[in-house]
Amino acid sequence: MKKISILIPAYNEEASLPALYNSLCNSVFRRDDYEWEVLFVNDGSKDNTLEVIKKLRETDKRINYVNLSRNFGKENAMLAGFDYVTGDCTIIMDADLQHPPTAIPEMIKYWEDGYEDVYARRNNRGKESYLRKKLSLTYYSLLQRSTRIDILQNVGDFRLLDRRCILALRQLRETQRYTKGLYCWIGYKKKEIRFDQADRTEGKSSFNLFGLLNLAIEGVTSFTTAPLRIATVLGFVVSIIAFLYLCFIIIKTIFIGESVQGYPTLITVILFLGGVQLLTIGIIGEYVGRIFNETKNRPVYIAESYNETKL
Ligand code: UDP
Ligand code: MG
Repeated sequence: MKKISILIPAYNEEASLPALYNSLCNSVFRRDDYEWEVLFVNDGSKDNTLEVIKKLRETDKRINYVNLSRNFGKENAMLAGFDYVTGDCTIIMDADLQHPPTAIPEMIKYWEDGYEDVYARRNNRGKESYLRKKLSLTYYSLLQRSTRIDILQNVGDFRLLDRRCILALRQLRETQRYTKGLYCWIGYKKKEIRFDQADRTEGKSSFNLFGLLNLAIEGVTSFTTAPLRIATVLGFVVSIIAFLYLCFIIIKTIFIGESVQGYPTLITVILFLGGVQLLTIGIIGEYVGRIFNETKNRPVYIAESYNETKL
């Protein structure tokens, strides 16, 4: 019998877990044509999430958990999950019930048809401000234009991955992770399904605008070096303009003679160039920072225990 794992990263989700477990029981666990496993990754929760998971495990041995030694962030927690899932395929979902378990049978159907990565695209983006929607749209289209890898829009982490995808993802151990892009990077046969994203009922989202901005920069810097290219081109263009202006001044001085003027031009040019230089140094810095982080070669997460076993 094939085994299906459900991978759920959880950070401060004590309020959502019982409801999540119930809805899994009601929709998918009923099916006995598959063996089921649920793997919770407790990402250093500060509330009683771990106790709730342990209690669930006491009554249902299909539930497993990895406990991380502190909060490593969702992206890293998911890698921990990839390392510990055992199923023939893995379904990743959020703990907050925003991803409906009712979509799972459809995913499994496509998996049985031979697709290796069945991802769910949101029909709606739920309660979000107009500005946030607009920004995210612009961001995706810019990102897409600067890289050859398809990075899908409105597609989150709710997806089914065949074991082969999981094995591939395990090899990608970069520390600053942008998993959304990694799914696309590994390739394999993909299939899209649609779902309506529910609003979070319990607890609160741990991503604020600043966090999203960080994730956005992560996305760009881990998938494309286009900003460096832009810096090069910008430097080139500015140099050419400066050179033409230089020629113009020389010729003007020869034929018309010199008059000491031009304080405003000087100051604008200096400020403009100063700005451009700072910007480019910043861009280079982003990439140098990534190199710094990767060369330290630290593990992406530290797992404290797997089920009852201390690691
Ligand atoms: N999460 C996590 N570690 C974190 C933050 C979030 O494991 O540091 C989990 C969280 O428990 C949830 C999922 O990631 O299962 C999505 O988080 P959230 O609902 O806060 O994000 P949003 O839905 O707003 O994107
Ligand atoms: Mg959520």
